[in-house]
Amino acid sequence: MYGKFKDHLIKEIKDIHEAGLYKDERIIVSPQGAEIELETGQKVLNFCANNYLGLSNHPKLVKAAEEGLETHGYGMSSVRFICGTTDLHKTLEKKIAEFFGTEDTILYAAAFDANGGVFEPLLTAEDAIISDSLNHASIIDGVRLCKAQRYRYPNADMEALEKVLIEAQAQRFRVIVTDGVFSMDGNVAPVDKMVELAEKYDAMVMVDECHSAGVVGKTGRGVSEHFDIMGKLDIITGTLGKAFGGAVGGFTTGHKEIIEMLRQRSRPYLFSNSLPPAVVNAGIRMFDMMSETNELQDKLHANTDYFMEKMTAAGFDIKPTQSAICAVMLYDAKLSQDMAAKLLEEGIYVIGFYFPVVPKGEARIRVQLSAGHEKAHLDKAIAAFTKVGKELNVIK
Ligand SMILES: *Cc1c(COP(=O)(O)O)cnc(C)c1O
Repeated sequence: MYGKFKDHLIKEIKDIHEAGLYKDERIIVSPQGAEIELETGQKVLNFCANNYLGLSNHPKLVKAAEEGLETHGYGMSSVRFICGTTDLHKTLEKKIAEFFGTEDTILYAAAFDANGGVFEPLLTAEDAIISDSLNHASIIDGVRLCKAQRYRYPNADMEALEKVLIEAQAQRFRVIVTDGVFSMDGNVAPVDKMVELAEKYDAMVMVDECHSAGVVGKTGRGVSEHFDIMGKLDIITGTLGKAFGGAVGGFTTGHKEIIEMLRQRSRPYLFSNSLPPAVVNAGIRMFDMMSETNELQDKLHANTDYFMEKMTAAGFDIKPTQSAICAVMLYDAKLSQDMAAKLLEEGIYVIGFYFPVVPKGEARIRVQLSAGHEKAHLDKAIAAFTKVGKELNVIK
């Protein structure tokens, strides 16, 4: 039975290769960190992880994970509402709400699930979801699962958003949804303007803080701290898989009635396994760290400023960033791949992105800074970029 389907897949995969879109995995044999070791034996500096606070292998989190294992075991073998809720899960939910200044939080296996399970339980065909054109795939999928009317506006375009809000007055409820930080440019969504428009046109605001939580704002509270609008967002989704330790897990946090309804009706919550205690206990420790000290945010922000300044001085064309994502613009797809390959030879691990991940003619190398980087790491990366940039005539 498989024969024809097999041929079909082989052809499709060949097409992916020919389009230059085939994704290979580079194999790492060390823990995640600023310095990693590849299967080839090569040691490289990592500038492409979402390990913004350098917590992926932090001794305190490793220890907390071990303690979680010891006190609560390995797996939960249940969804939350049957027998998958421990005291640890409740504590972590509370800590997340405290961090964001919200009323309550619901945990998911991933932010992909949080976004996938947030719209359908809350909105019907009578309502409207208004989405930024560059929103994450998980938001797009979540919107698809919901019967609400769909509206879209071009990335961060607040004039267009206003027009759409006027159109959407026909619906019962309106939710504007945006990524907090857009992962390819590093720009922060103009959430202050969105909140103003939401007040004017009777809408709610949802922000996916996956790339902004822990990173943006002086103490890492995300876009609402950045714009000084704490408490004005109706729904926040986020991940434990990026700045917050990098393991796994997602959450939705916000008004208590919204969270209560999600616990009743959100399908990825109801029909998928509970997070393991090791991850949850490390998450608790991580949020404790966030309230004890601002060292990591301070270091990350200093590292980002330093890198941006030196790279700009070296002559690179860098998109202005408000996050820890720094897009080194090259425009040409092949150049982005050649440059990333040469940088790897220099011991700098970065990824070149091109169409369709970014618009045509806007190929780039995306650098992700981390509090785990020391100044020597940054200097080595800047020197390598400068050397390779000259070789490839990107800079003079
Ligand atoms: C990474 C990311 C997600 C998915 O997070 P996971 O917890 O890995 O599922 C969702 N939204 C945005 C904006 C992201 O960047």
